[in-house]
Amino acid sequence: MKIALVTGANKGIGLATARRLARECGHVIVAARNTEAGRQAADRLSREGFSVSNVTMDVTNAASVRAAAAEVSERFGHLDVLVNNAGILPEATHADPKEALDLAMFEQTYATNVFGPVAVIEAFLPLIRKSSAGRIVNVSSAMGSLAHQTDPNSPWHSMVVPAYQSSKAALNAITIVLAKALADTPIKVTSVCPGFVRTDLTPANKEQAPTTPEEAAEVIVQAAALSSDGATGTFVDVNGTVSW
Ligand code: NDP
Repeated sequence: MKIALVTGANKGIGLATARRLARECGHVIVAARNTEAGRQAADRLSREGFSVSNVTMDVTNAASVRAAAAEVSERFGHLDVLVNNAGILPEATHADPKEALDLAMFEQTYATNVFGPVAVIEAFLPLIRKSSAGRIVNVSSAMGSLAHQTDPNSPWHSMVVPAYQSSKAALNAITIVLAKALADTPIKVTSVCPGFVRTDLTPANKEQAPTTPEEAAEVIVQAAALSSDGATGTFVDVNGTVSW
């Protein structure tokens, strides 16, 4: 049975991904910073008949991440799939659109969207190396694509959320360097854009989002299930390759 862990899995895309992975992959560990929210999500999936457990993990807290990795190591001994899903977009509700750069906003956003995945990968990589087919999926965004940001014909060209967009560009760069660093191992690393999804990330225009969390989970699970001859270090969405 494969073991998968999804960060920020108590709601939104993370919860939908945990459900899909549990259906297709085996046992899923619901990681959440709020222990009770994680337990409730895991209980819900258990009641739906899936094999799940939960672990408390705040990706911005190094001690919390290390404790979660120790717990997973003790309980399962290895990890096959890591989905770095936890993410924030504080600019959606707090940014002054006239402020192009706001250091506090960058620090807050990067702590979760960039340093979070780095801390989680660092802590869990020894467990992923014990898998015969480890997969790391970084939930990114086409809004972090430098190609789209600089292409006047791109639908994302006019969007300006500096901290968020640059955090996802940094996450994409991490996907690339990590895939190269792990090229001589079975581990594959993928950046995935889930689309514009109806979640609490963008409360003001949540209802306009065309994609459900369940639909978004599909492309994430495809990356998690990449076959041994599949390419590592790619950026994909539901339509295929996304330009970096
Ligand atoms: P939600 O706001 O619904 O869910 C975000 C999840 O991340 C929650 O479980 C939240 O936990 C968790 N989280 C936030 N901070 C931390 C932290 N420090 N430690 C652990 N968990 C944390 O958003 P989405 O489901 O939409 O977002 C999931 C991912 O998808 C994000 O990386 C986002 O950037 C990405 N994405 C989303 C898009 C969209 O249109 N929705 C588009 C492109 C990418 P809590 O409940 O405790 O706050």
